[in-house]
This record gives sequence, structure tokens and C-alpha cells, in this order.
Amino acid sequence: MSREDHRALITNIQGFSTEDGPGIRSTVFFKGCPLSCPWCHNPEGMNAKAELIFHAERCIGCKACAEVCKHGAPLPGAAECERCFACVDACPTRARERMGRWWSLDELLTEVLKDRVYYSTSGGGVTASGGEAMLWGHFVSLFFQQLRAEGVHTALDTSGAIGGEPLDRVLAHTDLALIDLKIMDPARHRAVIGVDLPPILEHLRQIDASGISIIIRLPVVPGYTDGPDNLAAAADFAASLKRLLQVELLPYHRLAEPKYKQLGRPYGLADVVPPTAEDMERARAVFKARGLKTLLAGE
Ligand code: SF4
Ligand code: SF4
Repeated sequence: MSREDHRALITNIQGFSTEDGPGIRSTVFFKGCPLSCPWCHNPEGMNAKAELIFHAERCIGCKACAEVCKHGAPLPGAAECERCFACVDACPTRARERMGRWWSLDELLTEVLKDRVYYSTSGGGVTASGGEAMLWGHFVSLFFQQLRAEGVHTALDTSGAIGGEPLDRVLAHTDLALIDLKIMDPARHRAVIGVDLPPILEHLRQIDASGISIIIRLPVVPGYTDGPDNLAAAADFAASLKRLLQVELLPYHRLAEPKYKQLGRPYGLADVVPPTAEDMERARAVFKARGLKTLLAGE
């Protein structure tokens, strides 16, 4: 199989990113995730297929979409939509867009290496994120291998949902792991996020055992992750890691809510109030009490 045959579905490539690892980076958002966190701020990355999105504010009502669609151009999320994207091509205002594009390995390498001078001068590099980048583990391992050969720092942003040999193959070419912790009670984790917690923790320990440096990230979501017991359990787990560099606490925000609407999906956390600065400091204190370097988003 040639490099041109390797492809992955990607929602976005964020250049000049400073939030997903050190320095100036390109963050590649792979599409698809086995978890279903209700606070997800990248809902366009959850489904592993290309999707239709609709920007209502751009629509001029010309009905060009309905003329090319045998179903009358329903809105995203409609069961009858076949994801053919004919309406996207017909729409003159980009009110209808396709979310998720296939990239070959060569295309992606060419794209991210355009910014290599910024990586080298800032101590940055490339981060594979998502969704869950490990759903595309073989592709990511080849991608990172090539980047490393070009002298580019690589970071894997993962929920820990996928482990074993596929994870080892990616870790062999990874410089830094960004690991998410969320709900630490197994029953509540399954009920809210839809998958079991123990395998995730096992995979996170696999990363730690590989010797790669780790940054733990925890979204502080009132009513979900901000309880004292949950924070204490997350801090205990973080403190048990040998390769931990620091913990980053990310306050819940509602900026992603419009994206749910564009995708035709309900937003389940409309009633959740973002944490205050005092709430964030209280959360930080739990981690600092265990001697962990703990940063709040933006620090
Ligand atoms: S993606 Fe295809 S089936 Fe879905 S609304 Fe557009 S034209 Fe119709
Ligand atoms: S083609 Fe685009 S602008 Fe025209 S009605 Fe359809 S969504 Fe609106």
C-alpha cells in the first residue's frame, strides 16, 4: 500500500494552535469518537462519517438545495438524508456544508509541514486530536513517523478509549501525550459518557509505562466533573503517573452550543452554568494539594 492509499477523515486542521501542547502547533482533528461526553466542544468530531451541517444565517431561501435533493433537502440529522452532499455543491452561499474531508497521508504531511518554521522557532509541532485520533491509529502512526523523520515534535491528544498494540504503534512515534480525565466513578462514567472507565484508565497507564511525557486535562463541568470526590479521584490518578508534566483544568463553556444546532443535534447542557474563577481555583487546590503543577486554561 502506498502512502497515497492511506486516508483519514478529518474535520479541521487548526494552524497556529497554542492550546494543544507546547509552542506553535498544527492540531489535526480526526473525525469519530467512541465516547459521547455531553459537554463535548467538538461535536462535529463525534460521528465517524462525513456529515451535513447547516448555517441558517447564511441561507437566502433560493431552494437550489431542494432542486437537487430527492428528499427535498431536509436539515441535518434527518433520517432520510443519504449524505450525498449534492445540496452542498448546489448551495450558493455555503449555508450547507460538508463536515469531514478525506485526506491522504501525503496531503496532510504537505499541509502541516508548511508551518514547520513556526514549529522549530517556537518549540511547537503537530498534535493529533479529534474526536479520537486513535480511531485512525494506523494512519496516525505513519503520520507521526514521517513528522519525526522531519524533526517535528508530535503530540497525541487521546481519551484513552483505544489501547493495546494500536496504541503502542502510535506511541513509538509520539513525544507527548495529552490525556483527558473526566468522570472517575465507573458507574457514572458509563451512564454519562457511554463507555466503561476501567479500560480507559488501563490505556492511560499503558501510555505512562511507555515513558512518554504526559499532560492531564480535565474539563471542569458543574454537576458532572467538579464534585470534590471526583476531583480528588482524578488528582490521585494523576499523582500516580510517573511521567506527568502538569495538569490543565479547562472550564466548561457554552461556545459549542451553536455547533450542535448546525448538526441538528440537541444540546444537553443548556442549563449548566459555567464555573466561576473561584470554582476553578477550588478545583486547582485539589490537584496542588498533591504536589501537582496545575494550570487553568489560558495560563
Ligand atoms: S446530503 Fe444529499 S440527501 Fe442529504 S439533504 Fe443534501 S442532497 Fe439531500
Ligand atoms: S441552496 Fe443554500 S441558500 Fe439556497 S435555500 Fe438551500 S441552504 Fe438556503
